[in-house]
Amino acid sequence: MKTIGLLGGMSWESTVSYYKAINEGVKKSLGGLHSAKICLYSVDFHDIEKLQREDRWDDAAKILSNAARSIQTSGADFLLICTNTMHKVAQQVESSLTIPLVHIADATAERLVSDGVRCAGLLGTKFTMEQDFYKKQISEKYAIEVIVPVTEEQDIIHHVIFSELCLGKTNEDSRKKYLEIINNLHIRGAEAIILGCTEIALLIQQHHARIPLYDTAKIHAEKAVKLAMDEDTDQQNP
Ligand code: GLU
Repeated sequence: MKTIGLLGGMSWESTVSYYKAINEGVKKSLGGLHSAKICLYSVDFHDIEKLQREDRWDDAAKILSNAARSIQTSGADFLLICTNTMHKVAQQVESSLTIPLVHIADATAERLVSDGVRCAGLLGTKFTMEQDFYKKQISEKYAIEVIVPVTEEQDIIHHVIFSELCLGKTNEDSRKKYLEIINNLHIRGAEAIILGCTEIALLIQQHHARIPLYDTAKIHAEKAVKLAMDEDTDQQNP
């Protein structure tokens, strides 16, 4: 079994989901007392969130690259950055490593492709919904159309992520608003919804919606388990 590197803490609420899903996946695969080999580096999200707000992405990239190198030195065979938003600096982090980075948008898009989805709605932070770094990875590389909520809806999604979900709070009113936004994306042509923020599944699960939901944290964690179990994986191209 390979050792999984996790760059987490963004927020720690969703890193818990990764840790649990990965260990459950390994247990399901190997049984008994088996558990995942994980090197976890959890950053202080206060610092990262401030750099996001101040548009200081290069400084954030330096923090994440240093953390990623520690994970590599600790023996990880590949790395997951446990947040969609910070994939904005994925290339910078990856270029500081010799182990491969498993991109969250690739893992998600592979699943969409195998399910035949051609148009997906995307929920995430404003950075993820507004900017191209995430949407392009899916639309250009996998030929899937990605649509996002309108500006006022994006503001609601973003606010709930930072003022509730990243603090471990869920509330019924926010769930209703999210479901309305999901419905609007469905009406606009989305065949599926990408929960493109690793905390959203704390609020919205499949049983709340009729449209298929793609939980990026779960999909990313499942991809890590698959790679960790696959002894023949080409480590340069996971
Ligand atoms: N975990 C979230 C994401 O997947 C948001 C926190 C962050 O800004 O990194 O985008």
